[in-house]
Amino acid sequence: MSATIIDGKAFAANLRARIAGGVSDFRAKAGRAPGLAVVLVGEDPASAVYVRSKGKATREAGMQSIEHRLPADVAPDVLLALVADLNADPGIDGILVQLPLPPHIDAQAVIAAIDPDKDVDGFHPINAGRLATGLPGFVPCTPLGCVMLLKSIHSHLAGLEAVVVGRSNIVGKPMAQLLLAESCTVTIVHSRTRDAFAHVRQADIVVAAVGIPGMITGDWIKPGATVIDVGINRTEAGLVGDVDFASASQVAGAITPVPGGVGPMTIACLLRNTLVSAGRRENVAIDLDALDAPKDSAAC
Ligand code: NDP
Repeated sequence: MSATIIDGKAFAANLRARIAGGVSDFRAKAGRAPGLAVVLVGEDPASAVYVRSKGKATREAGMQSIEHRLPADVAPDVLLALVADLNADPGIDGILVQLPLPPHIDAQAVIAAIDPDKDVDGFHPINAGRLATGLPGFVPCTPLGCVMLLKSIHSHLAGLEAVVVGRSNIVGKPMAQLLLAESCTVTIVHSRTRDAFAHVRQADIVVAAVGIPGMITGDWIKPGATVIDVGINRTEAGLVGDVDFASASQVAGAITPVPGGVGPMTIACLLRNTLVSAGRRENVAIDLDALDAPKDSAAC
């Protein structure tokens, strides 16, 4: 059997087109564009690439992109003061501080300083709490994108056995919360799990967010399962996921490739969250059902 390939690139392109439509409607009603501020501290090349592509995508969607670059040795107070300014700026709807931050800066303190209602990354403890308690807030972009891809394959997620491999605050934990909110039966596997293979093997849905290239091979996968590979690992063979695509795609029912699966969804969901924030702040209705269009198919 060969799996259906979940085309995240195409799904994200469609989502971005719908967002651009929503942005143009917002601009007409609010008299301004949604504004996303991105803060980059230091010269980390991967972070610089991410910030550049976020800025480009933001502008392409018709939003205003504001970039702040600070030196790697910036004093934490200077960064916190910038965050306070952005919190107070009425033209800014979303604030993103690119992670990782240099070791002398307490990343949790910076995240906590962002206004939760501008926290379009969804990393603020208040947004984590809102997600856990089912209140509206901002959901981290990568897991949000994963759920959209899952819904393009499964019309109903309720009752499915879902296993999330990884428990980070930015992917694994919010992913598990989102799947729980969809009434999946959720298991989280992490580095101290006794028999990760046994858990993954019984899953209808596997979400891998570990950071170990090709850790999950085809023999781990229950035949017909849907596999979402969040991993982005740079190896000599190029960019690979946490799932061994060659073997897993022989067993899975549907699977995301790396690259071209989850990755493109992350930026698209950042734009989506920024538009949603702008709508909330200016009291302009955003049609979330039309925006998220769970009926779109990403299968190919
Ligand atoms: P972290 O390093 O923060 O977390 C990794 C998680 O994997 C930890 O919870 C860790 O467990 C767990 N883990 C480590 N080894 C094992 C093991 N042998 N068995 C089971 N679990 C294990 O990574 P992130 O969550 O930030 O990222 C995960 C991957 O996703 C990375 O490849 C990253 O590049 C990618 N990523 C991709 C994004 C995208 O846009 N597509 C966005 C964000 C991340 P423990 O907690 O016990 O240490």
